[in-house]
Amino acid sequence: MTKDLANGEPWTPARSAALYQIDGWGEPYFSVNAQGHVQVRPDPRLDRHIDLFDLVEDLKARGLALPLLIRFSDILADRIRRLNEAFSKAISDYNYSGVYRGVFPVKVNQQRHVVEEIVEFGRPWNYGLEAGSKPELLIALAASQEPGALIICNGYKDEKYIETAILAKGFDKTVVIVLERIEELDIAFAAADKLGIRPVLGVRAKLTAKGIGRWADSAGDRAKFGLTATEIVEVIDRLQARDMLDCLQLLHFHIGSQISSIRPIKTALREATHIFVELCRMGAPVKYLDVGGGLAVDYDGSKTDFHASRNYDIHEYAADVVGAIQEACKDANLEPPTIVSESGRAIVAHQSVLVFEVVGTSEVPVAEAIAPTPTANKVLRDMYEAWQNATPQNVQEAWHDAAQAKEEAFTLFKLGYLSMRERAEAERLFWACCGKFLRFVRGMKQVPEELQDLERIMASIYYCNFSVFQSAPDSWAIDQLFPIMPIHRLSEEPVGRGTIADLTCDSDGAIDKFIDVQDVKTVLELHPFDPTQNYFLGLFLNGAYQEILGDLHNLFGDTNAVHVQLGREGYHVAHVVKGDSITEVLHYVQYNPEMMVESVRRQAERALRNGQITLPQVRLLMRHYEDSLDAYTYLGDDD
Ligand SMILES: *Cc1c(COP(=O)(O)O)cnc(C)c1O
Repeated sequence: MTKDLANGEPWTPARSAALYQIDGWGEPYFSVNAQGHVQVRPDPRLDRHIDLFDLVEDLKARGLALPLLIRFSDILADRIRRLNEAFSKAISDYNYSGVYRGVFPVKVNQQRHVVEEIVEFGRPWNYGLEAGSKPELLIALAASQEPGALIICNGYKDEKYIETAILAKGFDKTVVIVLERIEELDIAFAAADKLGIRPVLGVRAKLTAKGIGRWADSAGDRAKFGLTATEIVEVIDRLQARDMLDCLQLLHFHIGSQISSIRPIKTALREATHIFVELCRMGAPVKYLDVGGGLAVDYDGSKTDFHASRNYDIHEYAADVVGAIQEACKDANLEPPTIVSESGRAIVAHQSVLVFEVVGTSEVPVAEAIAPTPTANKVLRDMYEAWQNATPQNVQEAWHDAAQAKEEAFTLFKLGYLSMRERAEAERLFWACCGKFLRFVRGMKQVPEELQDLERIMASIYYCNFSVFQSAPDSWAIDQLFPIMPIHRLSEEPVGRGTIADLTCDSDGAIDKFIDVQDVKTVLELHPFDPTQNYFLGLFLNGAYQEILGDLHNLFGDTNAVHVQLGREGYHVAHVVKGDSITEVLHYVQYNPEMMVESVRRQAERALRNGQITLPQVRLLMRHYEDSLDAYTYLGDDD
């Protein structure tokens, strides 16, 4: 244990837990143990923990290099159980006479092992699948084995998509084709005529009620998806004219993802239940009401309606859904429908963790200020004075003086009045000022706004062995926050302040926004990096959307992934999915590695003939070239 520099009290794992808010976002799966490691409790019903640091060491010993995506199958099972139990409870609390039948939207994580586990763990609840495209329908049809399981078909559809869905009805599955556009009705009619099978149809209603935040435009009058009231009436009339109104069995809506506040969910439910009642009144035997996705994940643990959080929990959500539908049916004297929801993020976000290592740091060069000579340029003497005179009481004034002197120094340099050496001295003095001011600022209760930036200016850069574009694309694309913290050394005070830079040659390949109870932090508390010791960071709650949105920027490929399951004792590794090799990523961009080897060999031979390279050098070059083709795309120490 180390002493806290600020007040002399010992630093403890509990203080790390509080600092990284792990109880807020990690409960009940992630916590900090007495060794100062992150520990995982994959099945919260059992008092069994896996030490994440030990697990990573163990996986490394099996030859699995970092960055490594670890999936905990038992967490996935627990998420499915929680959602279904929340609806069961709400159904019994409200004495609702219908049932709940959830479906998993395949687009949120299409990985075969994940989808197969979802089908397996969902069996007790008849949990189904939702497809948003033709390829996803193919996955859903192959993966869902349960007779009677629901398959909901969303997304834009062509003839093949619709015919396949209609034909699969013959497999004892309920395959519902949800009309997203009025044009799909014509395709459905044509397919039904051609095949002589009556389809099960649904309509996606375009609600006026909007979601909140990033995906607010998934609903509303100008939304990309769904049918307007006029179009829904047209569907009813046209179905009736063909004596097919009995085919319309489902009403669907989806107001967007990560709905952080319960209010828009309630508003949407009110509108959707009205539409449901109206559909029934017009004679459509709608027996499924599908409330879409949107159930949010508390990424920052703040339990607020901030975009990275949510101000409600799964029980409140289920109760509001069941309650709203119950009330509408009671008022209209209707048979309660089967409730369907399409929660994706809330099912798969928690099950995976990306672990990667720090490979180096870059720090702001802070040293004590050295007094300039009496004849030095005035700007240097001013800057030194700002440093010398700064006290905790006048730090804001000292900051103004130092900042002004710095600006002057650069102007003088540009005009040729300051030499390169003098400019360098000005820079050193400025960093010395910032270092001293920051010490004062950290002791303040209320930090003036202009001084709040000092932490960021003085932050170290922690270079890490991973790619933001591959493993956390939403952090780059939409500023999504994921909890990030060291997975060990948590009994030691993290005295460093840093931002994270990845391996790509892209300045966007960085993370400089971190979860905080208040808003966001621009620097993360980290430990001083010792190049002779491993330093592992975890990026948590990244199981939803990140894998498939991840791209090959700089040709960093898929990471290694493992599925870890609790065994009777300890755990076992159920699946290992090796990450891409360099050969594989080269194939994606149409290179032929054999021809590349040939080309390099020819050039090496020519250089050898011309005496520009020696034979041992040729041999070494070719060995590196060929070995690299088989290697992992990330930095590695063992191959
Ligand atoms: C994306 C999507 C979902 C999943 O949303 P989450 O917010 O991940 O629960 C569900 N239904 C439809 C139609 C979707 O497009």
